[in-house]
Amino acid sequence: MARKGETPGEGKYRCMKCGLRIKLESNDNALENCSKCNYGEWAKIGTTTLEQLD
Ligand SMILES: [Zn+2]
Repeated sequence: MARKGETPGEGKYRCMKCGLRIKLESNDNALENCSKCNYGEWAKIGTTTLEQLD
């Protein structure tokens, strides 16, 4: 899990609260609050098969 302000690396993330998906384009990009629900914790998508729902 990664939080707002962290730079967990390039990749896709899913909001822990509402499920909105975002993408960090660069390892220098920091996570922000969710644009939909304003939550600030994210789960990385795609590193495990369980997260690959689409
Ligand atoms: Zn959200």
